Amino acid sequence: MTAEYITQAIGRYLARTGAEAFTPAAALIDMDGTLYDSMRNHARAWHMMVTGQGMHCTEEEFFLVEGMTGGETINNIMLRERGRQATEQERRDLYAIKSANFNSLPRPEAMPGAARMLRILADAGMKRVLVTGSGQSSLLNRLDTDFPGAFGEGMRITSADVTRCKPHPEPYLRGMAMAGTAPASTIVIENAPLGVKSGHDAGAFTVAVTTGPIPRSEMEKAGADIIFPSMEAFADALPLLLKQSAAPRR
Ligand code: CA
Repeated sequence: MTAEYITQAIGRYLARTGAEAFTPAAALIDMDGTLYDSMRNHARAWHMMVTGQGMHCTEEEFFLVEGMTGGETINNIMLRERGRQATEQERRDLYAIKSANFNSLPRPEAMPGAARMLRILADAGMKRVLVTGSGQSSLLNRLDTDFPGAFGEGMRITSADVTRCKPHPEPYLRGMAMAGTAPASTIVIENAPLGVKSGHDAGAFTVAVTTGPIPRSEMEKAGADIIFPSMEAFADALPLLLKQSAAPRR
């Protein structure tokens, strides 16, 4: 079943991109909700900040805008709640409050299956680049401790490295440039619709892993090439995906 699902997904990918073959050589990997089970904390931290400023929001809405930079998220809330853009000062100050809230919450755990997934990629000789809209240094600084050897020195694209955040393809296009791979040699690993759209529009084979409350249908709408119900399930299927895709199209 898995083998057939993978074969069909690769076939659809080749049809949509017009690529001759899918030959993965690099994986571009999102952080929040993909490597860390951190999205509940982010949603709670955003909710605390926004309501603390006397504005309205739900925790759920932050799952849907996941992948945007903090500045963009703040701007969208200001537009909705106060009818104007956020100033640069507000973006900085409100993001600092949100970050402090996040750091006050219990430390998020590594996503079950994420370490195994990264090991499989490394053992297969795949290049790995972290591609995140986050500027949350508390998590970024933990990566090398929690996933030793998973990412080489400097192999990361963060909010500081891009001018346009997900869902724009720029973050994943920059990740490909860093890895030195073409789209049909690149796998994007994501958990959020905006990130999936970014990977899709960058032309990469885009894997969606539903690790939170967002339904599978949202991942399909965003253009996911293949969808797994958990990181454990994706790690189980990954050796097969890498093996199958090595074969040229017939
Ligand atoms: Ca994410």
